Amino acid sequence: EKFKRGLEKTRNSFSEKVNDLIARYRKVDEEFFEELEEILISADVGVATVMELIDELKMEVKRRNIQDPQQMYSVISEKLVDIYRGGDEQPTALNIQPNGLTVILFVGVNGVGKTTTIGKLAYKLKNEGKTVMLAAGDTFRAGAIEQLEVWGERVGVEVIKQSAGSDPAAVMYDAIQAAKARNIDVLLCDTAGRLQNKVNLMKELEKVKRVIEREIPGAPHEVLLVLDATTGQNAMSQAKTFKEVTNVTGIVLTKLDGTAKGGIVLAIRNELNIPVKLVGLGEKMDDLEEFNPEQYVYGLFA
Ligand code: GDP
Repeated sequence: EKFKRGLEKTRNSFSEKVNDLIARYRKVDEEFFEELEEILISADVGVATVMELIDELKMEVKRRNIQDPQQMYSVISEKLVDIYRGGDEQPTALNIQPNGLTVILFVGVNGVGKTTTIGKLAYKLKNEGKTVMLAAGDTFRAGAIEQLEVWGERVGVEVIKQSAGSDPAAVMYDAIQAAKARNIDVLLCDTAGRLQNKVNLMKELEKVKRVIEREIPGAPHEVLLVLDATTGQNAMSQAKTFKEVTNVTGIVLTKLDGTAKGGIVLAIRNELNIPVKLVGLGEKMDDLEEFNPEQYVYGLFA
């Protein structure tokens, strides 16, 4: 239900256009595909992904000898899910260890919703019965530490911090010791997101990761890149840059409730081969959902 509500803008715009298209055509022909192509591009699915999708749809229509546009609902849905899955079944669920401390690192530029996502995920995990701690690793941006503390208080989880300007790797070291001492299940780590200086960002993230790896073999268990869905192709270019800088294991796509262009989910997965793991569907504490491709795609036509 929350998923449906959060996707309202995308659903309204996309399903309205597809409904209209299907109603106007009596036969699935070349023109039908041309119009469908435009609809997909306007939903930010991305040109490369749209081309691939249209090709696959044409093959499927030919293979099954489909003529009636009504049949295209299920064909389109199936292919959208296929493209999302990309053949290999990459898990969309978070890699949370059944035993011991799980460390999740958050990266992304300012304003995308990183702090909010950390707060929301802390709330979600706590509700699932896990003990959670936050590490204020963005020591660079003024206000970042305080903002994380506000979320910590709101959710009722401890925040490990040092003063502004201190070494993020030292914050992580402290946080890991504290998490071990208090038997914490999941440690959520904020980091600074300066893309202006790629070399510095890379060095900082590498240093942070080294400290984490040294303290807990196999950690960090996730490096989640937070992207703002309302920024469309800009989010795509941020993702490309972060992928060069560090080993991103999953995407959190925020503000999906604020855009009609939810197709960006598909473009990111298909063009970058990184699974979208969580989606932000609003500003409230419980507006974070695990991403499920079937639910998402079928929700578009519901
Ligand atoms: P940060 O700079 O990346 O840490 O970004 P913040 O967490 O401070 O978020 C920036 C703004 O985006 C805030 O006003 C948040 O309330 C808002 N925001 C974050 N996630 C979502 C979301 O999923 N939906 C909506 N509508 N707003 C969001």
